[in-house]
Parts: sequence; structure tokens; C-alpha cells
Amino acid sequence: MYKIVIINSEGKYDDNYYLIDAMTMGLPKFLATYIVENNGMRLMIDVGETLKSRKTIKKLKDLSLYPIDKIVLTHSHWDHAQGISKLYNLMKDSDMEVLASENAIENLKHPENMIEGFEGFEEVYPFEEMVTPLKEGDIIDINGLELEVLNLFGHTMDSIGLFDKTNKNLFAGCATVNRLDQDAFFVPLMPPDFHEAELLKTFNKIRNMRNELSSISISHFGVWKDNHFEQILDEMEDLYLKVKNFLIEWYNENPSIDFITSKYCKTLIPNSKFWNEKAFIVIVGMMINGLKLSGFIE
Ligand SMILES: [Zn+2]
Ligand SMILES: [Zn+2]
Repeated sequence: MYKIVIINSEGKYDDNYYLIDAMTMGLPKFLATYIVENNGMRLMIDVGETLKSRKTIKKLKDLSLYPIDKIVLTHSHWDHAQGISKLYNLMKDSDMEVLASENAIENLKHPENMIEGFEGFEEVYPFEEMVTPLKEGDIIDINGLELEVLNLFGHTMDSIGLFDKTNKNLFAGCATVNRLDQDAFFVPLMPPDFHEAELLKTFNKIRNMRNELSSISISHFGVWKDNHFEQILDEMEDLYLKVKNFLIEWYNENPSIDFITSKYCKTLIPNSKFWNEKAFIVIVGMMINGLKLSGFIE
């Protein structure tokens, strides 16, 4: 029997899980938000950008997932967290708790701290409400379904994952590899506070969980199960190093983003159709800024 092992379309996909496409930057299948539901309680992971907040609420209502009881932000980058203020206000009628890494609290109050290097995405919406700070090992209880908080630093220094032991799944945010589909990927080398040594530690930490997992849910994009889950774990470090070294080489040859993007698409994702140079120019620009701000290039 044919078995689907990559889940990338919207809606319910498992007993406790739903996927909603946040349509970030207007792109389908770029940023996934997840809903975990158990015994009537709902937790949402990441919110996407402000512009899409109303649309997100409509999708939640259409899927009978409204109201949401808890929102966890995997980290404070704009594509995951920008919409939190607006969404919170639009959901004012319900009693909702927002949770994030203890390191994310200041960044959510001062989102301008986290947009350096993201040209064209400077719009900030400070979140002034209470945020419950999370640290390594904390348990979030969804009416009996427990999610364990893991620090997955490197991509940012406020990146966390949620480990669901019962369903053998890790919600990993952007901490691994951003595999958009089988033919296209980018790596978590993003401004402004990328930290390579921490990222390599995170890779190791996740690889060590291999036996406790059968799937990994990544923000960019989808749920990778069974042998596809193994693929993510096996490839993430190699892909990161390969992309980093190529970007440095191409940048030193010619710092134009057009040039580097063309090289990237031809060399690294040659079979990709939807994720072409037009879509990747922004992503490549961000990775180059990640390299600059972490000191790999000048
Ligand atoms: Zn990010
Ligand atoms: Zn992201």
C-alpha cells in the first residue's frame, strides 16, 4: 500500500494535529502553523504575519478550532510571531495564554531587535500583553497530552521545540533544515542573532532523539514522517554546511544577490519548479545577511 509520509496540506492530519498554511509573504506552503487539540483544549504553534491574522481566524473557525486556548511561539522572527498582537486583539473574547522562550520575552516587546537583516519586512507590532516564559524541560499540559519544551538555539537564541512523547513528534520550528518540499530547501542561517555553535548542538540534540520520534513538524514546511523524517535528521547538518560554504564562495566571487541566487538555484535546487529564482531571491538575501551579521562575511 502506498503510504503518504509528507503532510503539507491544510486541515486535520492526525488524532491531535492540524496544519494551517499561514500564507506568509503570499506564498503557499512556506510557513506552517500547527494546532494541537486534546479533549477540547487547543494550542496553536506560531501565528504568521499580521497581514494574514483575519484570514487565520477564519480558517480556525472553518475547521472548528476556535477559540484557541494557548499560543506558543517557536521564536521571535517576524514570519512566525509578527501577527501575535493583532491575533490576540481579534481573539479578545476568549481567555488565551501566550507562551514563548524566556529569551523571547524582550524580543516580543521590542520586535525591532529581531528585524535587522530582513529588508522589506521592517513593520513591527510590539506585544505588550503577558507572555509565559518557557525554559528547557517545562511541560505544557493540553488536557492530559503533555508537550515538553526543548531549547533549540542557533537559528535564533530564543528558538524552542515542543516534544510530544505520546505521538512521537517534534515541533521543531526553524531549528533543523527548512525543507519546503523534496526539491527545494534553505538553511536556518538567518539574521540577526544566528549562532553556529548552538545550531550544531541543536542538530546533535535532535539526532539523539531519533528513537523517540517518528515524525518532525517543521515550519518551512510540513510534517515529515517515517523515512522522510529520517531524511531531515540525516541531511540537516550536511545541508547547512554545504549551503554556508557555497554562499561564502559565491559571495566572494560576486556579492550581487541576483548572482548568488542564480548559483543557488542552479547548483542546490536544480529540479525545483515552484521554488525558483524569483521566490528564492528574498530567502538568499536573508541568508547572506545571516552570514554577515554572524561574522562569516564582511
Ligand atoms: Zn526564524
Ligand atoms: Zn521562519
